[in-house]
Amino acid sequence: MRYGFKMNKINGVTFLSVPSFDETGLCRTCFSTRLGGVSKEPLASMNLGFGRGDKKENVLENYRLLGKAAGFDGLKTVAFSQVHGSDVFLATEKDSGEAFLPKKREFDAIITSVPNLPIATYHADCTPIFLLDTKNHAIGVAHAGWKGTALKTPGAAIAEMIKNFSTEPENILAAIGPAIGKCCFETHSDVPDAMLSTYGADAKDYITAKGGGKFFVDLPGLNLQTLLNAGIPEDNITVSEECTCCKSDLYWSHRKTGGIRGTMAAVIVLNERGNM
Ligand SMILES: [Zn+2]
Repeated sequence: MRYGFKMNKINGVTFLSVPSFDETGLCRTCFSTRLGGVSKEPLASMNLGFGRGDKKENVLENYRLLGKAAGFDGLKTVAFSQVHGSDVFLATEKDSGEAFLPKKREFDAIITSVPNLPIATYHADCTPIFLLDTKNHAIGVAHAGWKGTALKTPGAAIAEMIKNFSTEPENILAAIGPAIGKCCFETHSDVPDAMLSTYGADAKDYITAKGGGKFFVDLPGLNLQTLLNAGIPEDNITVSEECTCCKSDLYWSHRKTGGIRGTMAAVIVLNERGNM
C-alpha cells in the first residue's frame, strides 16, 4: 500500500494527483479541491457541479481552469448524473463533453480506453476510486457513497474493464481519494446493516458502534476491501487517508456544510500511446 496523494498548485489551482499513476506516464490524474476557481460564496471557489445553484459560466470556467492546470481539456469531460448505483459506462469519443449536456445520463462509474478523453465522477464526501490497467492501457473512475460502497460500484467498474479490455486485476493500479472518514461518518443502523449484508463478516472491521443506535462506518476501508477482493495486489493501491469533513477548508464536504456546498471532480485521462 502507498499512502497519500500529491498536492499540486498550478496557475493558482490546487488539485491532487496520484503519484503511482503519474509515474507510469500512461495517464494524468486529478482530484480537485475547493481552491482555484471563480465561483462566489458559498460555492467559492472551485465548484464543478451544475446542480449547486452556481452560474453556468462559472462552472464552465472552473472546468477550463482545472483542465489547464492538470493537463487535460476540461471542456471534453465525460461525467454523468450520479444516482448511487453501480452501472458502469464505457466512454468513447462521441461522449466527449457529456458533463455539459443539459440532461446527462445516469452512471456512477466510467471506463475508457480512449486517449485524451477525461472521465470524471463528482464528490463531496463520497469515496472516489481511480483505476489504471497498466498493460492494456485503459482507465476507470468510480463514485461510491455508502450506497455505492454497499453495491461495490468499484468492483463493477473492474468487472467491466475485464470484460471490455481483457484487463487482468494484477495489472491494475488503484487509488482511493479523499472522502469522509470513519472519524466523521456517523450513521444509523441502516448503513452498517447494508455493509454486513454485502460484505458479510468482513464488514465488522469497518464498523464501530458509538452507542445510542449510532455507528461510525469506514467507507474508504470497505472500498479498499472491494479492490483487494477483486484481485488487485495491495502494493498496487494508493490510499489518500484524508477526510473531506475534517479538512473542509480544503475539500467540499456535504456533511460539514449541511449540503450548501460545491462539488469536486475525480478526473483521469489516458495518455496517447507512444507519447509517454
Ligand atoms: Zn473526519
